[in-house]
Amino acid sequence: MARKIQIVIAGGGAAGLELATRLGAHFGRRHFDIILVEKNRTHIWKPLLHEVATGSLDANLDEVGYRSHGFAWGYRFFYGALDGIDRDNREVLIAPILDEDGREIMGRHRIRYDYLVVAVGSVTNDFGTPGAAEHCNIHNSQSRHCPWCSIGTAGSVGIYAAILAVQALVAFGWRGIALWPRAIFTLLAFPLSGAILALFTGAAKDYWR
Ligand SMILES: Cc1cc2nc3c(=O)[nH]c(=O)nc-3n(C[C@H](O)[C@H](O)[C@H](O)COP(=O)(O)OP(=O)(O)OC[C@H]3O[C@@H](n4cnc5c(N)ncnc54)[C@H](O)[C@@H]3O)c2cc1C
Repeated sequence: MARKIQIVIAGGGAAGLELATRLGAHFGRRHFDIILVEKNRTHIWKPLLHEVATGSLDANLDEVGYRSHGFAWGYRFFYGALDGIDRDNREVLIAPILDEDGREIMGRHRIRYDYLVVAVGSVTNDFGTPGAAEHCNIHNSQSRHCPWCSIGTAGSVGIYAAILAVQALVAFGWRGIALWPRAIFTLLAFPLSGAILALFTGAAKDYWR
């Protein structure tokens, strides 16, 4: 059987995913092996990241799983990070895959290509601003942005309910003091209890590491 033409696309973002989908839909699997190499298992449309960050969008509901998408659209998904290109042998090098504890679960890998498209996106420029690289959460990937991001809709609703409960307790349960200081404390209760819950959520999610 004739060897299939192998098209490797590294990076399944706006460009890579679109390309893999179109090539798969156009050529199918008969003569071509279209392989999408991506370091995440799911894709989320980047312009939506600020909505994820503010909790108005649950990333888990909106993201596209590459494996099932590839199955439907005629390309193959390979989970892993492009680590280098061996142009002499026309192969891409895929970094070892590690589990959450840093143990290697799949060794370094090579994938042959006839055609290679590198679509790994860009890195945000912090213009060398001192401290920016260490302390900024740059909204350019699916990585953790803030404690709220990773808790999902149910978690967000739970936290807002808890904050409102604290506020209601201060407003209606604290009748021993005059109205105007109680009103000020009631207003302060919202941001303060929110900040405290964010600290605890962050700690529980190992966000502050
Ligand atoms: C918050 C935000 C809002 C935006 N809003 C808009 C907007 O409103 N309108 C607009 O036109 N544009 C917007 N953009 C810009 C737009 O999202 C980008 O221009 C576009 O995503 C670039 O596409 P890309 O395929 O080049 O890279 P990306 O979409 O970044 O895709 C790169 C992919 O490569 C993967 N990858 C990276 N390194 C490796 C590796 N070593 N191995 C394997 N995979 C790898 C990444 O995980 C990612 O999936 C926005 C961007 C951001 C961050």
